[in-house]
Amino acid sequence: MTTTTGLSGDPDIAGGPSAGAAALECEGCGLIARTGAPTNFDAHCPRCGVLLERADRHGSGAALALAVAASILLGATLVLPFMTLDVLGQQQGSRVASGAGGFADYGLWPIALLVLGTLVLAPALRLGLRLVTLVGMGWDQPPRWLFAAFRWHERLRPWAMAEVFLLGAAVSYNQLANLATVEVGPGAWALALYVAAQAAADGTLVPQTVWRRLQDRGCLADPAALAQVAPRPWEETQVASCPVCRLAHPGGDGQPCPRCGAGLHHRKPAATRRAWALALAAAALYLPANFFPVMAASKLGQGGPHTILAGVAEIAHAGLWPLAIIVFTASIAVPVLKLAGLAVMLVATRRGSAAALVARTRTYRFIADIGRWSMVDVFAVGILAALVKFGAVASVVPGLGALFFAAVVVLTMLAAEAFDPRLMWDAAHARDREAQA
Ligand SMILES: [Zn+2]
Ligand SMILES: [Zn+2]
Repeated sequence: MTTTTGLSGDPDIAGGPSAGAAALECEGCGLIARTGAPTNFDAHCPRCGVLLERADRHGSGAALALAVAASILLGATLVLPFMTLDVLGQQQGSRVASGAGGFADYGLWPIALLVLGTLVLAPALRLGLRLVTLVGMGWDQPPRWLFAAFRWHERLRPWAMAEVFLLGAAVSYNQLANLATVEVGPGAWALALYVAAQAAADGTLVPQTVWRRLQDRGCLADPAALAQVAPRPWEETQVASCPVCRLAHPGGDGQPCPRCGAGLHHRKPAATRRAWALALAAAALYLPANFFPVMAASKLGQGGPHTILAGVAEIAHAGLWPLAIIVFTASIAVPVLKLAGLAVMLVATRRGSAAALVARTRTYRFIADIGRWSMVDVFAVGILAALVKFGAVASVVPGLGALFFAAVVVLTMLAAEAFDPRLMWDAAHARDREAQA
């Protein structure tokens, strides 16, 4: 076995166990690493290169200040006027959440709820959970549910899509500017500032710091079991890790995590079956998503319904090449590449292949991170439908294609989340042991 597969050797991050250090399992390849005190450097897995733990460069004071700033900006984003359209003296205004109304008006309730969830509910809930965690972990005796509160904060991260909506707004702005006079309202600027504040806030709060702080304050499910953690090396197959606080612990599936009390898992339950089912469902819906029109735009009797691909061609035809490339990449290329990538990973896992394990693991992370950007076109259609309501003069009506397309995006995101890249390493290890026996 060559070293490029990453199977030989089992490097350790920080040597032996140290006081206060907790074992952490790499989410990419399942390597058990011990991380010590927080440092100024990001810790990457020495085997697969996936980020294990981000550096903690800021105090919780900065994290709290940024969370408060982001909350104020989110509030401003939601109440201030977003864009106003002027067609032959008639005006139509909108707020950020009008994007949801644009779908609801035409009976496309599932997308209206999706837009509302990703644009308003998920960001607001995340900020609430973040503020609760930051305030609560400063108390002398923090309650143990703070572990779960912050875990939900992390789980909601991919579903809070303000930055994707911002790009969707840029796409729709260019299409609106072709049609009439557009005025960008203060809500749009507040949205841009909120996106920046939220990114900075995400950079200042490191999950491992939260878990450590709660542990240091005695907020523990089973202190005795945590103290008895055996020194390395463990057999990786004997280790389960906590889905909530990521503590790796030598114990069986379903045993309570000694730190936060959640059930430990060796691997994500039914990962392969769930990933296959969700990916196949997404692939099936990809056809109607591209066959039915995503919207019908008309101006003075001109224009008509068009599909995603026709929409891209139209943008390119108007000379807006960078925009056409963005929409093509997000709407056509990303879903196809995601599904193909997942299929390759699932098949390679089944065959126990050791080829390009590191590359596959990194591709998985990339696939899991990029999926949300496919919502760009859905958001753009919502904004257009909410603003362009001038009857026979000009109108945009969202189509069934948008509904199927939004379903494809959600299903591919869930499929990527369901898959467990550690299974690729397990399968290769098992194959390797078989060959040696
Ligand atoms: Zn790794
Ligand atoms: Zn835990």
